[in-house]
Amino acid sequence: MSPNAKQTAPANAPSEARRKKLLRLIRKQQLEALLVSNPVNVSYLTGFTGEDSMLLVTKDRTILISDSRFETQVEQECPDIDAVIRKSGEAMHKSIADLLGKLALTGIGFESSDTSFALWQRINAEVSPGTLKPTHGLVEELRQVKDKGEIAELRDAIQQAEKGFAVLQVSLVPDMTEQEAAHELEHTMRRFGAKGASFPIIVAVGTRAALPHARPTSRKLGEADFVLIDWGAVSQGGYNSDLTRVLWTGKASPKLTKIYNITLEAQQKAIEAIRPGIACRDVDKIARSVIEKAGYGNKFGHGLGHGIGRDIHEGPRLGPSSDTILEPGMVVTVEPGIYLPEWGGVRIEDDVLVTKDGYEVLTSVPKELEISRWG
Ligand code: ZN
Ligand code: ZN
Repeated sequence: MSPNAKQTAPANAPSEARRKKLLRLIRKQQLEALLVSNPVNVSYLTGFTGEDSMLLVTKDRTILISDSRFETQVEQECPDIDAVIRKSGEAMHKSIADLLGKLALTGIGFESSDTSFALWQRINAEVSPGTLKPTHGLVEELRQVKDKGEIAELRDAIQQAEKGFAVLQVSLVPDMTEQEAAHELEHTMRRFGAKGASFPIIVAVGTRAALPHARPTSRKLGEADFVLIDWGAVSQGGYNSDLTRVLWTGKASPKLTKIYNITLEAQQKAIEAIRPGIACRDVDKIARSVIEKAGYGNKFGHGLGHGIGRDIHEGPRLGPSSDTILEPGMVVTVEPGIYLPEWGGVRIEDDVLVTKDGYEVLTSVPKELEISRWG
């Protein structure tokens, strides 16, 4: 049960750099260590992709607490960090409590949004009162700014999504159902190398597009003049892309054209404002005021966008109450929408990287009305 030291192994450079940054945040919280339970955060800090494992990050040590199913995987994926391999029957809370006791740590942060109350209770019963202290979003704060490798992963995820969409677009026929289109798109993205879809794909025909989170039904594409598709791919490294397009499948009526153009203008203006130093709420406001001026302010009920990365929704949020300041390396969606019950909805979504002096739109599916039209 003692941590096996593996100092001779080569370091996983990105993970090591992330842990160094995390230590600064841990110190700022006046803690000695952080117990990481969120599997996405564990993987981000170590390169380990298995399950049921937790990570303890202290000033001098990084220790992964895993079990015998993952022993080889731990050695292969993160040879540079120490591991406690639990034998079958050894409970996680026991291993953690033993480790904390051995290291004589007294101020240990835990991830309050991810550690279950039951696990907290069990560990807490084994350590001195007050040892465990709740923290919130420390690793998530680091994850907001992507390094080079992560941006490359996001570009892959976007390319897989876009290639899949291009194939779907030419195979759409009026008789195809929302469900069939969603299935076809996921299948095609996988063929282009994606691990899968980054969330259940939304294909919403006509009035169904008024629901921002519509689930595909047996409704046929030919039953209305337009279809909204919101989709994304997961890259092999586990990064998520997220796009939305509206395709005209019938006649582009004046109302449709009007709503579409307002949404597009809102999106364009917001994207152009993206640069380091601007507050997320101000980017949101730029898009929102275009929609408000056009008289649809109360029909845009969600935030303008969100960060993408290992999670499909992560920081920073672009919303009216988000005071996060954009920094180079952040990647956000910009997705204004106008939803009119009983008529339908329009949302246009692209993925945007904050660069040193502005922005780069990473997605490239055309969104001009003419190009989007089919049928
Ligand atoms: Zn989306
Ligand atoms: Zn989104």
